[in-house]
Amino acid sequence: MYKPTLDYAQQLDKEDNLSHLRAQFYIPKDTKGNDWLYFTGNSLGLQPKQTQQYIQQELDDWAKYGVEGHFEARNPWMPYHEFLTNSMAKIVGAKPLEVVVMNTLTTNLHLLMVSFYQPTKTKYKIVIESDAFPSDRYAVQSQLEFHGFDAEEGLIAWKPREGEELLRIEDLEKIVDEQGDEIALLLIGGVNYYTGQYLDIKRIAEIGHAKNCMVGIDLAHGAGNISPELHDSGVDFAAWCTYKYLNSGPGSLAGLFVHEKHAHNKELPRFAGWWNHNKETRFNMRQPFDVMPGAEGWQLSNPPILSMAAIRASLDMFEEVGMPALRAKSEKLTGYFEYLINQIDTDRIKIITPSNPKERGCQLSIQVQNADKSLHQKLTENNIITDWREPDVIRCAPVPMYNSFEDVYRMVEILKTLL
Ligand SMILES: *Cc1c(COP(=O)(O)O)cnc(C)c1O
Repeated sequence: MYKPTLDYAQQLDKEDNLSHLRAQFYIPKDTKGNDWLYFTGNSLGLQPKQTQQYIQQELDDWAKYGVEGHFEARNPWMPYHEFLTNSMAKIVGAKPLEVVVMNTLTTNLHLLMVSFYQPTKTKYKIVIESDAFPSDRYAVQSQLEFHGFDAEEGLIAWKPREGEELLRIEDLEKIVDEQGDEIALLLIGGVNYYTGQYLDIKRIAEIGHAKNCMVGIDLAHGAGNISPELHDSGVDFAAWCTYKYLNSGPGSLAGLFVHEKHAHNKELPRFAGWWNHNKETRFNMRQPFDVMPGAEGWQLSNPPILSMAAIRASLDMFEEVGMPALRAKSEKLTGYFEYLINQIDTDRIKIITPSNPKERGCQLSIQVQNADKSLHQKLTENNIITDWREPDVIRCAPVPMYNSFEDVYRMVEILKTLL
């Protein structure tokens, strides 16, 4: 059983076989040189120290070779995105054919909806979570309007029940059971950004497919946090950013997954550019468009190598450690965090994230009574970096790559005094 003491937290750090990873990141510091207590890896992951060297390599090769770097660089830029595919596929539980790194998240959602949101006059509605991330909501609303539908009428929200915070899968089942004939697409956050709830993706795919609806998953809060096993889940598509748990830097490129069952379907509607044209004949130029199989068949442009170099630096760390080890530490770290918070004798805060480790990633969402934002402000003044999400939640994500049990202990000690 856990204990609420500094000694015990330090003991857990000693026993943690991933504790050496922290030193491989830059941890922001206060003016006195103390490490910040950083709990916002769910918003922007910290910088691996080796990132600089990966980017520098490409700058050097650009300086040295100019355009010839596409073939002559130590890591040739022509196939550079392929260097990321295997590691990324492992992280989300996919086959390499099913994954590519390209664009940014919302852009990828749109490109995927070009192919997988094919509404008819009667079957056109889209289901999202009632507190879906705003960008996802805007994206689906604009897709509805683009196809000539009313954005309000065409959107179905899967809501928590009255007086509850979390979603129940039976409620999604009921929606799809009753209205499935009108629903074209389910687009659901695999881990909800607000509550931290990790939904049963496989079950969602089964529910949608039973009524011939396409199923897409936003994994912004899942990739590098939980192990979504995308291939086995059977979902049609997914997308995620890499600057949160995947530590690739602000605004960096995103991941895209298209299930193998669609890999060779050349009939799917999609947008085209030279980068989803057959690799073998791409540079023969005056060729008719011939789409590539798999996820690469959704690319449009030649990608930004400097951003990909940063992703590669991070993925190499994930490759070395592996998701199973990270996930094992994560369950323990967040479990300890939860335990410590539950020791505080107060009714001013409440954790709304599921207590079952199988139904959450590393994040805990702490709901504050009367939406008192000053608590978050005071945490920040104490160099505890969390984030406030309207209407009333402080999100805290202890990340197994670089957060320690001591971080979590110190954070809760300060939280206690503030309450
Ligand atoms: C972070 C996040 C986004 C951000 O989208 P970008 O296109 O990368 O700016 C979108 N959706 C969800 C669910 C997110 O968590």
